[in-house]
Amino acid sequence: MPADCLFCRIVASEIPSDRLHEDDLVVAIRDIAPRAPTHILLMPRRHIASAAELTDDDGPMLGRLFSVAADLARAAGIADSGYRLVSNVGRWGGQTVDHLHVHLMGGRAFDWPPG
Ligand code: AMP
Ligand code: ZN
Repeated sequence: MPADCLFCRIVASEIPSDRLHEDDLVVAIRDIAPRAPTHILLMPRRHIASAAELTDDDGPMLGRLFSVAADLARAAGIADSGYRLVSNVGRWGGQTVDHLHVHLMGGRAFDWPPG
């Protein structure tokens, strides 16, 4: 694990977080600076820099991540109204933490395309 990776340190519980789910592949936490009434981050336990680094071998992890996202959306009461799942890649994509994560955002309507 890269010693300086914020989300690796959160996964390892070296930095506190509001953890909503964890299993052998995936961890979900509340975003520290929510941009929507529900704003959750889902990430693999294993360090992967971004979606650009994914391979076929990550299929089971990704299946888990998206099924956990659907469960958390239902639990948050936003499943019926709809929500946004997004993973930013690189600087122009808006990525600020270089450990793959998917934002689960809901509780309000979102514009398309994003700004
Ligand atoms: P991104 O800009 O797509 O890389 O998303 C990074 C997200 O991590 C942002 O929405 C931040 O608010 C969030 N974030 C940064 N530090 C923490 C932290 N310590 N705990 C929870 N979320 C964080
Ligand atoms: Zn990491």
